[in-house]
Amino acid sequence: MKYIYADNAATTKMSEKALEVQIDCMHKHYGNPSSLHSVGQDAKIVLEDARAVMAKYLNANPGEIYFTSGGSEADNQAIISAATFGERKGKKHIISSKFEHHAVLHTLYKLERQGFEVTYLDVYENGMVRPQDVADAIREDTALVTIMYANNEIGTIQPIKEIGAICREKKVVFHTDAVQAAGHLHIDVEADNIDMLSISAHKFHGPKGVGALYCKKGIPLYNLIEGGAQEKGKRAGTEDIPAIAAMAAAFEEVHQNMDENMVKVAAMRDHLISGLKEIEHSALNGDETHRLPGTVNFCFEGIEGESLLLFLDDRGIAASSGSACTSGSLDPSHVLLAIGRIHDVAHGSLRLSITEENTMEEMDYIVQSVKEVVSYLRSFSPVWEDLMKGKREFIL
Ligand SMILES: *Cc1c(COP(=O)(O)O)cnc(C)c1O
Repeated sequence: MKYIYADNAATTKMSEKALEVQIDCMHKHYGNPSSLHSVGQDAKIVLEDARAVMAKYLNANPGEIYFTSGGSEADNQAIISAATFGERKGKKHIISSKFEHHAVLHTLYKLERQGFEVTYLDVYENGMVRPQDVADAIREDTALVTIMYANNEIGTIQPIKEIGAICREKKVVFHTDAVQAAGHLHIDVEADNIDMLSISAHKFHGPKGVGALYCKKGIPLYNLIEGGAQEKGKRAGTEDIPAIAAMAAAFEEVHQNMDENMVKVAAMRDHLISGLKEIEHSALNGDETHRLPGTVNFCFEGIEGESLLLFLDDRGIAASSGSACTSGSLDPSHVLLAIGRIHDVAHGSLRLSITEENTMEEMDYIVQSVKEVVSYLRSFSPVWEDLMKGKREFIL
């Protein structure tokens, strides 16, 4: 049986091109870019070429790109930098949202324990931060605003440009976790008024364990890892040149086909949405229009998302019930709770995240399978029975 991979928000398969570049680089460019001899300098060229590619597609300058071990590190570094330098000016207030990735939230919780105050903005039922709320929350002592570009569980795209403009006007540093957006949407750090931005290669067909932080010239960066002078002294450790080169190759590749892929993937997404909406007592999570081309998240009343996943897996479909980080724990997703889904409903969630490698036929198969599995699970669900007998009220 052919397996249908619909969990690209968790991670993507490396592209052939990225794999080829990575392996080729391991063979040929094994030098340490900090070495002064030709072998080292050859690796340095590969490193700087990759930096230029990343910068080009973000509309940044190469000097504003810092390579990291992935999205989590970039998020940690951006937030801790703004907090550290803000604190030196007596600014200990940060603004974020309730549905950020844990790499952001857990960094903020750590800062709260160190005496920072964090305002977590509401994301409402549609899963969108309101720019006016950001403006209202900014204070004299606000050191940072950090709002994600697109949500990893429900796929909603935030009004980044407007939020960036507000931050710029009020002279507050603006960071965005763009891990889900990069490689899927056109990002322009200049036009979007972004000061710091995090990305991760494995979410756009690059390798795992590598990412980048864009940090606008003039915004101070604090290094989390002490050691050598790599990355202008802001991130010590010998650079993983093959992974960095593969990330750049993947980034270039996705941009070359981005417009046509966005149309193709969005058409499959909309097909999924209209098919799944036919299931009674179900609901799409997050705004229907402001969403990533490839991400769909639904709640089905009266079932457990985990059981749904296992039955779908049996049918050859890889999906997710939320973020990879929360699966395995019994807590419902903080994202679904943030958009107002109550615990019972949030438990019955399904995230499907697709790419240009999927097909319309696969979408039909997914819709059919979800319909069958949901109705099977409901056939012996005590919660569903109570709902049908009127002992509980339907929410969806
Ligand atoms: C995957 C993800 C991250 C973490 O990136 P890693 O490279 O896996 O550390 C951070 N933020 C968002 C929104 C993500 O989807």
